[in-house]
Amino acid sequence: MPPSFNDFHCRSIEERDAFWAEQAGRIDWHVPPRQICDYSNPPFARWFVGGQTNLCHNALDRHLAEHGEQNALIAISTETNSEKVYSYRELHAEVQRMAAVMQSLGVEKGDRVQIYMPMIAEAVFAMLACVRLGAIHSVVFGGFASGSLASRIDDAEPKLIVSADAGSRGGRVVAYKPLLDEALRLCKHRPAAVLMVDRGLAPMEMQQGRDHGWAERRAAFLDAQVACTWVEATDPSYTLYTSGTTGKPKGVQRDTGGYTVALAASMPLIFGGEPGQTFFCTSDIGWVVGHSYIIYAPLIAGMATVLYEGLPVRPDAGIWWSIVEKYKVTHMFSAPTAIRVLKKHDADYLSRHDLSSLKALWLAGEPLDEPTAQWISKAINKPIIDNYWQTETGWPIMTLCNGVQPQATRFGSPGKAVYGYNVKLIDESTGEELTGAGQKGVLAIDGPLPPGCMQTVWRDDQRFVNTYWKSIPGRMIYSTFDWGVRDEDGYYFILGRTDDVINVAGHRLGTREIEECICAHARVAEVAVVGVADALKGQAALAFAVTRDALEGEQARKALEADVMKLVDARLGAVARPSRVIFVSALPKTRSGKLLRRAMQAVAEGRDPGDLSTMEDPAVLAQIQARL
Ligand code: AMP
Repeated sequence: MPPSFNDFHCRSIEERDAFWAEQAGRIDWHVPPRQICDYSNPPFARWFVGGQTNLCHNALDRHLAEHGEQNALIAISTETNSEKVYSYRELHAEVQRMAAVMQSLGVEKGDRVQIYMPMIAEAVFAMLACVRLGAIHSVVFGGFASGSLASRIDDAEPKLIVSADAGSRGGRVVAYKPLLDEALRLCKHRPAAVLMVDRGLAPMEMQQGRDHGWAERRAAFLDAQVACTWVEATDPSYTLYTSGTTGKPKGVQRDTGGYTVALAASMPLIFGGEPGQTFFCTSDIGWVVGHSYIIYAPLIAGMATVLYEGLPVRPDAGIWWSIVEKYKVTHMFSAPTAIRVLKKHDADYLSRHDLSSLKALWLAGEPLDEPTAQWISKAINKPIIDNYWQTETGWPIMTLCNGVQPQATRFGSPGKAVYGYNVKLIDESTGEELTGAGQKGVLAIDGPLPPGCMQTVWRDDQRFVNTYWKSIPGRMIYSTFDWGVRDEDGYYFILGRTDDVINVAGHRLGTREIEECICAHARVAEVAVVGVADALKGQAALAFAVTRDALEGEQARKALEADVMKLVDARLGAVARPSRVIFVSALPKTRSGKLLRRAMQAVAEGRDPGDLSTMEDPAVLAQIQARL
């Protein structure tokens, strides 16, 4: 009989090494590990010590014999109206060409390669080529501008930067080369070479000696055969900078062996994915979800993966679902924010497509509010599975492990702690563990973090320790900086960042609870609640809401505001009622869809909103300011 999920989870903690030794059998090792976990120097965990492997080998080479002609990468752009499918064999050849070009530009094991690219196949070639060579990639989201790029270049000190002439968003071409040139002017570090992919979207000024064209270089290496470089399991595979609120970016460093094992295990155990199936993750390669579930996990599992450049509603809100139909997508992975965008359109755009291949839709990155979950569940008639994780962890901390044992969904909960994660709820002031159901505490993870999670902050071990492991009094435990609560069955509910909590007249309120309530109003499409300083109550909750339909005039706004407040009064109590509901046409968000709460809060409090380089549309803040 298969184990119950609870037994499975228990074993992953109590018989940690035996559990992970079994999971390690899912990947190819050049040299098998000598030790499963070395935790002799906490909080630094060293997984699969002595083992040698290669991420690219596990993602590509090992599938060639059995699945060589099978689809590996399906690159679709509704921005350039292009679509190209690469089999495992074709992708393998392209990656070797890219690896040969990188070698010709001096890249060796341990060197960093910065990748600043749109969602095109060459970005995937570049990432896989890096890990093939044992080089460390550091992808910078294509939506970042020069300043953010420069600070990341200075921190990573890459030997090579790979980029493209331009990205495109909603038909608007964004030239990357001038941004890159400006970043290179701003930063202290000088990369030896820059490799540019020319999509023919924007003119490029090439700097002789430094800049090279991908097409020309590739032509010289068409038959390249570049063997995988075996690396230690504990060697870094990549760094990824978190969209920090502080000035200096924080490079989350990931290992090789632990990450490969964690992703290899996640596909059958969490997602129920099998070779030959198709995974469509709508994130961006610039984010952790993109690294893990656009690229590495589906390929390690021998699946095809869809790389999509474009908006979810262009040419219309049916585009993603037509891709599901055409490529018989089995697994879809997106974010609640994207669903809320779709929610403004007719559900018929989704349901008119044949979605019979699709097993489920996983959503991550932010709280999944019940109305959004209900809407999409009805629109596609498939299971909607919330999953909770962070850049730091690289794979889900909480979700349903349906591959272990089918688990029921609970609206508002990303599920139970995933195997390997020893999740605790901690009282933030005493550091004590909260074991009772319904008690709210800081979500923390007892060390060692499972395989695949961050090893350290790039070149800053002390920052890793101080930031993540020392925020809770009296104990060394990893803080997620999220509030959580657990029910009697072990299902967790995420109540927002510890830094987003508001305290109104001595009452602690989660902005998430208020948001969910307001979002249930039929006319509200999206809402953000922030705590702003209030002379009388300490803090007051302020709500910024986007309506589903047009809302013209002060009178209409006032009427709807009163209606929303009535709803909060009725659902949560007057204590949670926001002092105001301000209607705006859009909420300030990062390009990855994260709400910029601090920016809203700062503007509402008349302060400088700080670094807005990750913001999708800065005009949105001006509108908020005008409406205050
Ligand atoms: P990032 O590292 O940018 O992916 O952000 C991680 C943070 O996003 C977490 O610490 C949570 O605050 C939030 N988050 C991610 N997934 C979820 C989820 N399923 N439910 C609630 N919050 C989430």
